[in-house]
Amino acid sequence: LDEGPRSCLLRVRHRLEQDMKPSYIMDHMITDGVLTVDEEEKIRTRATRKDQAAALLELMLRKDNRTYISFYNALIKETYDDLASLLHADLPRTSPTAYKSFPDGYTPYVRTVLSEGGVPQRPVVFVSRPELLNRVREKLYQLQKEPGWVTIFGMAGSGKSVLAAEAARYHSLIEECFPGGIHWLSIGQLDKPDLLVKIQSLCFRLEQELDPQLHHRPPNSLDEAKERMRFLMLRRYPRSLLILDDIWDTSVLKAFDIQCRILLTTRNRSLVDSVSGAKYEVEVASGLDEKKGLEILALYTNRKMHGLPEEARSIVKECKGSPLVVSLIGALLKEKPDRWHYYLRQLQQKQFKRIRKSSSYDYDALDQAMAASIEVLPEEHRELYKDFTVLEKDIKVPAKVLSILWDLPIEEVEDILEEFANKSLLFMDTNNKPYLYYLHDLQLDFLIEQNRNEIEVKMHVMLNYFLFSLYHMDPFWIKKLVSDRVLSYFIFQNSDVRSQFQEFLSLNGHQLEHRPDVVQLALSEPLTSEVYRQARMQALQQSSRG
Ligand code: ADP
Repeated sequence: LDEGPRSCLLRVRHRLEQDMKPSYIMDHMITDGVLTVDEEEKIRTRATRKDQAAALLELMLRKDNRTYISFYNALIKETYDDLASLLHADLPRTSPTAYKSFPDGYTPYVRTVLSEGGVPQRPVVFVSRPELLNRVREKLYQLQKEPGWVTIFGMAGSGKSVLAAEAARYHSLIEECFPGGIHWLSIGQLDKPDLLVKIQSLCFRLEQELDPQLHHRPPNSLDEAKERMRFLMLRRYPRSLLILDDIWDTSVLKAFDIQCRILLTTRNRSLVDSVSGAKYEVEVASGLDEKKGLEILALYTNRKMHGLPEEARSIVKECKGSPLVVSLIGALLKEKPDRWHYYLRQLQQKQFKRIRKSSSYDYDALDQAMAASIEVLPEEHRELYKDFTVLEKDIKVPAKVLSILWDLPIEEVEDILEEFANKSLLFMDTNNKPYLYYLHDLQLDFLIEQNRNEIEVKMHVMLNYFLFSLYHMDPFWIKKLVSDRVLSYFIFQNSDVRSQFQEFLSLNGHQLEHRPDVVQLALSEPLTSEVYRQARMQALQQSSRG
């Protein structure tokens, strides 16, 4: 043990002996490989807790720096924060290269760096997402040589924050790119005064680490705070990474536009447009696959994967791959292990409000998480977003359909859709030209649940299904239908009729690409069919208009 940590242990020995429970601490140290089971057993033979603590400290004095770091981390894990803070100043800054024997890169060095920087630990139940993780780390490596921004964006509860923390949990990344440390800042929705407080405390933390004796006056204004931060990051903490979690507003990002290295999580992809420097992004688009979902449920309920009840698979399916929702249910099942069927039913009935929060998540319930995203939209766009309720599952629509539905010029519609997509409220399929837009299943469920009571909804669903099928056809025809919603409602209320139309369209759709006159085509349907009747009506109207 180096001189610093050794003298620190001697200094605070008395406090440690008084307060800590060595048995828990030793478990962690054994896991870290700095204490053997034999050594532990020997210590346990001591009569009292205090004697055991004394023996552990005695042993540590004969060991190396790694032991000290492991001990420090164990204190943090067991929430002896005040004890850990006594040891903090003397944490050895040895060459990090000493610990290459941790295969996932999660070494004691990493633990120390991350806990100093306030990076949250893994959630109790955690599954790996290697492909996504590698993508984030790859982007972070781009920040090795120059400052810049890495954005992780995706919808509510898709696991962005967990991913950001996990990405940093990697030895060689820290060593090679961010030897200056990793500093985590939870942002969320906040106003200017709150932002100032956040930055003040970040500056305080950074200054304390440099010199605990020094007491700077906290910066008074955002501008001053920005300058203080600029100085700290450039001069004192070059090559460190700031992680800004859950950003909603460009004004927040602007405060951090100080030529440093930043990883941010957000639902709004386009935030970084307003700041300068190199930019990289990673989308958290796909949810967890079935296996990972089941793994989460198994971990929560303390079972083997194959020992899960039959409802498990259906629950995962209903959660649509959302890590947040699976975890919420998992946490509930942990408390009430006999409620598999009940929660499945709740999910199937979209009873989101009853599925209450997991402690680590900011929102009271899933619906609030979703609603928060919608609430920040300008009011008129909020109303438009509601109209997505009419989309059917798994259906993607081009901007043109929405332009008709909303009665807005296509350019305007494209801008609005882009805004939704940027805020992760909507997904865009860019493989198709024109682009197609669609909602995550969970978002659609949410919208339907929210707007359940609105009378027009059902009508819209019917109408729009039809609209979608028609989108590549004669716009006149579509317009006609939309302007006459009531009529359409009656037509399509009857599901028989609806399926006639569907069948007609699926059989003839390909012909319409070349012969856009759907009315002509529909006239060749059987005379008794509703399709024929409608087409005839259209034809008569057309001819009466000349
Ligand atoms: P976001 O930042 O995208 O809103 P979070 O990262 O906060 O989402 O994740 C929401 C919740 O989902 C977490 O509190 C956790 O319970 C769960 N979760 C996310 N990622 C994982 C994961 N890899 N393994 C297990 N649970 C996860």
